[in-house]
Amino acid sequence: MRSLAVTIDSALPSRAAEPRPDEAISVRLQRLCGLLGIAGARLSTLAADGLSPIATAGTEAALSALEARMTAASQPLVLGDTGLPAARFYAGIVLPEEGDRPARLLSLFDPHPRSPGMATTIAALAGEVLAQAAMARQRRQIEELARTIADYAALEDQRRTLFDRASATAHIGIWQCNLGDNSLTWTNGVYDLFEIPRNTPVTRDMTLALYTDASRQQMEAARAVAIATCSDFSLDAEIITVKGKRRWMRLTGAVESRDGVAHRIFGMKQDITEEKLMADRTRYLAEFDVMTGLANRSLFQARLSALDEGRQAIGALLLVDLDGFKQVNDTYGHAIGDECLKEAALRLVESCSGADLVARIGGDEFAVLLNEGTSRRDADMLASGIVEIMARPITRIGQTLKLGASVGVAHNRGGSSEDLFRQADTALYAAKAAGRATSRTFAA
Ligand code: GH3
Ligand code: MG
Repeated sequence: MRSLAVTIDSALPSRAAEPRPDEAISVRLQRLCGLLGIAGARLSTLAADGLSPIATAGTEAALSALEARMTAASQPLVLGDTGLPAARFYAGIVLPEEGDRPARLLSLFDPHPRSPGMATTIAALAGEVLAQAAMARQRRQIEELARTIADYAALEDQRRTLFDRASATAHIGIWQCNLGDNSLTWTNGVYDLFEIPRNTPVTRDMTLALYTDASRQQMEAARAVAIATCSDFSLDAEIITVKGKRRWMRLTGAVESRDGVAHRIFGMKQDITEEKLMADRTRYLAEFDVMTGLANRSLFQARLSALDEGRQAIGALLLVDLDGFKQVNDTYGHAIGDECLKEAALRLVESCSGADLVARIGGDEFAVLLNEGTSRRDADMLASGIVEIMARPITRIGQTLKLGASVGVAHNRGGSSEDLFRQADTALYAAKAAGRATSRTFAA
């Protein structure tokens, strides 16, 4: 994910060049297309009476039928294959209203279809880019606000009230600590963040007790460095309010010195709980399969490829494919089919408790990565165990249904990740050819 963060930075709004607004947006959309590996993107305002385009990038496509579906949507629409020639892959993401900026629709498309997993990953990555751009915007707002407040305590009453009103709507509070006696001054926004009644006298110890241990340590370390060097600091910290709510806040602090000695520290605290939840959700969507909760194909692929760079030690790869699953869908319907997939995932997790990774890598195909320490005998026994557990009747769907799975095993012989996958796939094919409900191990 590190290399991704670098790439995302270059896709974020830049302050240096200032072309016309729609051109600037097109440039950013173009960067986004490059980042996501898609042919085109379009940004439009989303109003009750329809869409009006703001900027486009890449190829053109007739998207009106797809975009019309988004006018009343709040959730992203992600389609791996729409059947439309210029936009077989389509993802529509609604960007909610922000200040005086109306709601907008971001359409991402490509003439080549994508698998459902890949389509979700692309949409999730786009979501992450947007979340980071929003964070960057917010950070700039906070910094600007911080610059305008030299000394909150010195503001006269009327201006202070106005300030409190304005900052409360942005879930922002200003704090100050006099380093001589550690006395604190808070605006209402900080009281609200910690859910402490406004104007209650507060001490530093009281506040510190509301940080989680990890966040308190991080904050104290950053603060100590800032005081020692008379500089600024900024971090995201987790707190538990006096009413017991878990919250995330973005904390910034600046040290003011006199004759080289720090005498006052002041800054902002902003509630970023929702933003944190959204970022966690986006990360989850990019790496996990929503239906089964297992790792998805992208995360599996990343772990498998890490073998080539020596970052992942893999002992063996098992590929597991359900037998005759199309028939289950045809006989019992897709919803029961989904329940069977969930049950299969649970059984796999249960039988592979020592595995490095259990993933759903396709419709009814799963993969298990075993660590380097796993003996060949143990890997082969695990494969037999999976065949046995998958053959047990499923009863959780209100009726009894027989499933089954075939397993292909490949032991890591020092080849590439592609070799390992191909070998496991060959073994899986052999297990299917041998009549299914069995396992085979790749032999060179
Ligand atoms: P085989 O024994 O050779 O594996 O045949 P199979 O019938 O299991 O079919 P195959 O593995 O080739 O194809 C998997 C099928 O799984 C195709 C598709 O109908 C179904 N499928 C894929 N994704 C989903 C899903 O998310 N839910 C449900 N219910 N079915 C799915
Ligand atoms: Mg199958």
